[in-house]
Amino acid sequence: MKSPVSHVLKVLHERYATLREGKVADYIPELSKANPDWFGICIATRDGHLYEVGDTRQKFTIQSISKALSYGLALEDRGEDHVLKRIGVEPSGDAFNAISLKPGSGAPFNPMINAGAIATCGQILKIDGESRIERIAKYLSRCAGGQLEIDEEIYRSESMTGHRNRAIGWMLRNFDIIEEEPREILETYFQQCSLKVTCADLAVMGATLANQGFNPITGERAIAHEYVDNVLGVMASCGMYDWSGEWIYRVGLPAKSGVGGGILAVLPGQLGIGVFSPPLDEQGNSVRGIRVCMDLARELSLHMFNPSAVPQPALRRSYNASQVNSRRRLPAITFRELRRYGDRIRVLELQGPLLFSTFEPVIRELVKQAAYCQHIILNFTYVFSVDAVSLRMLHQVWQQLAEAGVRLICCHAGRHGHPIAAAGLGEESLFTTEDAALESCENEVLAGILPHHEMVPPPVGLLDCTLFSRCDAAELELLGSRMESASYAAGDTIIQSGSRADELFVLTSGSVEVRLNLGNKRYQRLDVFSSGMSFGELAFLDASPRSADVVATAGVECRIITRALFEEIGHAHPALKAKILNEIALQLCDRLRQANIEISALRN
Ligand code: GLN
Repeated sequence: MKSPVSHVLKVLHERYATLREGKVADYIPELSKANPDWFGICIATRDGHLYEVGDTRQKFTIQSISKALSYGLALEDRGEDHVLKRIGVEPSGDAFNAISLKPGSGAPFNPMINAGAIATCGQILKIDGESRIERIAKYLSRCAGGQLEIDEEIYRSESMTGHRNRAIGWMLRNFDIIEEEPREILETYFQQCSLKVTCADLAVMGATLANQGFNPITGERAIAHEYVDNVLGVMASCGMYDWSGEWIYRVGLPAKSGVGGGILAVLPGQLGIGVFSPPLDEQGNSVRGIRVCMDLARELSLHMFNPSAVPQPALRRSYNASQVNSRRRLPAITFRELRRYGDRIRVLELQGPLLFSTFEPVIRELVKQAAYCQHIILNFTYVFSVDAVSLRMLHQVWQQLAEAGVRLICCHAGRHGHPIAAAGLGEESLFTTEDAALESCENEVLAGILPHHEMVPPPVGLLDCTLFSRCDAAELELLGSRMESASYAAGDTIIQSGSRADELFVLTSGSVEVRLNLGNKRYQRLDVFSSGMSFGELAFLDASPRSADVVATAGVECRIITRALFEEIGHAHPALKAKILNEIALQLCDRLRQANIEISALRN
């Protein structure tokens, strides 16, 4: 089945394939060999999916589009202040190849015109024996997710005819914007412009810029996080030469074009677009490229100032420990207390990008909750980025809450765990799972309300096992004499998922964990039982295979009711069997009721 998105691209391609306006660049003789009919459109999403139509795999030279990316490399090499002192960020209003330098300082207006781009080349360092062009080629290759090669013919052709760019180079030398003989820098610039790309490469480079500098296909970091907005900033204000104002008004996407016929556009945080069609307009922008981008932006509402493009607030869901608890099962009385005081523990589930505007409502909620809670757990499962401002504010609010006696914990932080820890939230505030975080908070709350409560219940006799709570002394004696006993060491698997279920276990000492195997040695804890409780009743009752593993977490002693014994009891002592079944039914009712409370809290 064809996606409707591909259809949009196909329609656009058909709409403009027959357009015959514009002229293939010929001031660099080799460029004039391009076929005016080549035409490709590609969209790359932030998660690395490509939609393509037309000549998206035809190679052509990147030309000026390289300027945007090598500006990123110069910023990484020299830092922002150093670069800004030498190259401005102001639209020039002149043609791309104008010898336009600011009066007085001689600084180029911006890095997107030739003067600024040549100056930018001069800022790139030679490191570890690697030349500037080698470093530029590697940098751009990382953005594209594939090795980019120089088109030697085009490079030679441009180098032989690039007298105007040489003049610019010497002017830059004159003003000390370039501090060495400009010859090699100019060759670097010509080579950089001659790197071969495809329309799909451009889209991926765009998606890399949209994806905080991570190439969404290789997953590799290509552009330093802190300079992504600088690169997009100059693209937005200066990327389309002296048509940049019109462009941002009509299309509204940071973009860069090149005389090879390429246009790279970015919807920050969302996607990259590559368009390729060699015929150019007077400003040197691809004619079909501009039309395609204008239509795409309008038809898919991609303008970056689109008023509906509002990020969702980061607060996805909120509940407390009277609704949702850790997976560990507690004795009934303890559990009742926990439910009663559970509102002292609050869980806030966060989502999306954390930046000032999305994180601010979370802070508001934290400040409000501080009046009611002792523990607040932030669940980061659905958070895909955390910016520096949110980290700073998270740290501040964490500190203030601590002063107010409220413990703030982060869990499921995944790849954000490191920055969160580095931002000053101590190890004790970071938990791998919400389950573990809840258990820790529950223990603290319980310690306050039931000071004599023991977290690890002591061994019990049959009399104190819930399953037999309705049995009389004679019945207990009968059971005691007939049930098998088993002991397990910590780490032993007592029940293997998939196996036959012929046994019901009554735990008299120690504790066991029910685990759902997630593969790769990972598992999710579903339940924890301790002495006095029974387990394995589900599959025992309906004779289905075991649905999860049960593993001893401490030395375990248990008694076992086998299916054979249970049937025998049914014949000889039907009242006893009824009591046991009745107790199991009550426990299942209880569990179902708890599950319903949890589900309704989690559906909110
Ligand atoms: N190499 C080309 C030049 O300097 C790049 C110009 C462009 O793509 N606008 O002339």
